[in-house]
Amino acid sequence: MEQFVRKLKGMMKLPDFDSLGKVMCVQPHPDDADISMGGTVAKLSKKGVRVYYVTVTDGSAGTLDESLMGERLAQIRKKEQEKAAEILGVHELIWLGFEDLGDYSVEQVRVKLVEVLRKVEPDVVFTVDPFTPYEVHPDHIKCGMSTSQAVSLYRLPKLLPGTSKHAVAAISFFNTAFPNTFYPIDQEHLNKKFQAISQHKSQFDEKSLQTLFFYLTEKSKAYSPVEGQLVEPFKTLPPVALHVISEAYRL
Ligand SMILES: [Zn+2]
Repeated sequence: MEQFVRKLKGMMKLPDFDSLGKVMCVQPHPDDADISMGGTVAKLSKKGVRVYYVTVTDGSAGTLDESLMGERLAQIRKKEQEKAAEILGVHELIWLGFEDLGDYSVEQVRVKLVEVLRKVEPDVVFTVDPFTPYEVHPDHIKCGMSTSQAVSLYRLPKLLPGTSKHAVAAISFFNTAFPNTFYPIDQEHLNKKFQAISQHKSQFDEKSLQTLFFYLTEKSKAYSPVEGQLVEPFKTLPPVALHVISEAYRL
């Protein structure tokens, strides 16, 4: 069995992140991509890669304050994400506008993503890993699942009239329990990521920011296969692995 998995791994043709032209980061809320892959975004955009952020929900539920909840918070969070994206060099922000913690479906998000995928034609699509055990947030699960389905099926006219000649080379999951890609970043990228996260003032006070930075710094070190190197971990798969291939979680 181990040999079979090794053989499958050897057959996977995954692109080198350093040679990408366009990538799309699909996130459930404004701030998720900054937190989980901000160093990678900073590094890629500096290399000239066009990074597109697609934000599924409006972030309107991210507060304990009922008077702030809703449209007011959505506006604030949009501005925060715009500032953070500028720091990281994000090329374009695309907003799908679903209600944070709302009653929308995977299918509704999926069709929007099919449209965006056909238009943007990214080499790699990043998103949250919906298969990570213990992830309970419905927006995260729906975002990861709808993105995976869209990447797997976006050329089918059944989902949306028309098709595409483009082929996404890989899907890469962040917040994953099964990482197989450890993308090296340096202190400068990590600093930019922290600067970007700091823009999300509606989400973090100074104390929670420091706790988050501690977690993210330690994580960047801990996942590195090389002592002293900083990385951001991902689970990268060719789209073909998202259907029928029951060994995918081990690849
Ligand atoms: Zn989130």
